[in-house]
Amino acid sequence: MRDLLLVRFGEIFLKGLNRPYFMRALVRKIRYAVKDLQGEVWMHDSRIFVSGFSDLETCIDRVTHVFGVHSVSPAVEMPKEDFEAICAQAVSMTRDMRGTFKVVARRSDKRYPLDSPAINEEVGYRILQANPDLKVDVHHPEHLMNIEIRDLAYLYVREIPAVGGMPVGTNGRATLLLSGGIDSPVAGWMIAKRGVQINAVHFHSYPYTSDRAKEKVLDLARKLSYSCCGLKVFVVPFTEIQLAIHEKCPEEYSTLIMRRYMMRIAERIARQEGCEALITGESIGQVASQTMQALGTTDAVTGMPVFRPLIGFDKSEIIEVARRIDTLEISSLPYEDCCTVFTPRHPATKPKLEKILEGESRLEEEKLIEAALAGVETISV
Ligand code: ATP
Ligand code: MG
Repeated sequence: MRDLLLVRFGEIFLKGLNRPYFMRALVRKIRYAVKDLQGEVWMHDSRIFVSGFSDLETCIDRVTHVFGVHSVSPAVEMPKEDFEAICAQAVSMTRDMRGTFKVVARRSDKRYPLDSPAINEEVGYRILQANPDLKVDVHHPEHLMNIEIRDLAYLYVREIPAVGGMPVGTNGRATLLLSGGIDSPVAGWMIAKRGVQINAVHFHSYPYTSDRAKEKVLDLARKLSYSCCGLKVFVVPFTEIQLAIHEKCPEEYSTLIMRRYMMRIAERIARQEGCEALITGESIGQVASQTMQALGTTDAVTGMPVFRPLIGFDKSEIIEVARRIDTLEISSLPYEDCCTVFTPRHPATKPKLEKILEGESRLEEEKLIEAALAGVETISV
């Protein structure tokens, strides 16, 4: 008999040929999450198990944050042959309960001498005898005593919901444009949740933006790296480009031209890193550079799909997710972002592509991009 954590994952992904691939990937990610807790992780009988961990609650916290895990249950594993021992264990696990309960037995081993209704009845009876504070309610019980008979027996009372999604790495790679704001970390988290391995590009305008602003972005990347299983951050020096835009392009288009340069540079880094898409934290109409027309002009410079998972979110909804994934506090620190340094007084909200192209023709695009790429600093967090 031993204590372990029973891990459930979304069944929908388990159909067909991808199933072993998906499960192996999930096992690797869970191992990564619990490696300092001495947990042992394995799969058996369409389930993933964790045992031998030093601290149950920490282990639960870590595993429920791994993308691809849908719920977990701390369980007792024991031989199924000794039914008396199973009853005794169920009695002990329900000893401190009050209110109503129900026994839910499931039997995948159909040769087991008792069927599920018989197990429910017998174990239920024993629990009632041992605990006068409990009553059976088969429709709306407050507590469940679960008993699964597989090649071993598993008993558990708690089922703790987890983050869901798919294991990172099972759905390709993408590059996140990560600012120090609230939105972009949330956007990266949402795409990573779908099984995408992400890396991040940050544009830094030293000395207009400080080293502390850069540190803040790295802190955000560290937060994301827990769920993303590590993260590479490419810090791109952006001052020269911003100064050139400021000097040579119409002011009302400066933000959009800057955003187009960000996309071009991010795409180059993404291709080098084997990424297939870009991710931004934009949402329709949030600021002038995020009107539909403006988004169209930033999309126009890249041949990659641009994922904007927050496109239909209100700011308050984004903040809610940021709070849940614990990036809000860091994002709310007051350091400036490169976008805020040269903000035009009257940015164009219905930009004309010809005007942007005319402004951009005054810049030495290739030279500026290559100089920026030559100065990239790569940091693994
Ligand atoms: P955020 O809250 O994430 O900063 P925002 O609402 O402030 O976003 P903008 O400043 O217009 O919006 O930026 C839109 C998107 O462009 C961001 O979500 C992010 O993906 C990207 N971005 C902006 N600034 C930077 C930067 N300095 N480095 C990398 N990406 C950036
Ligand atoms: Mg911002």
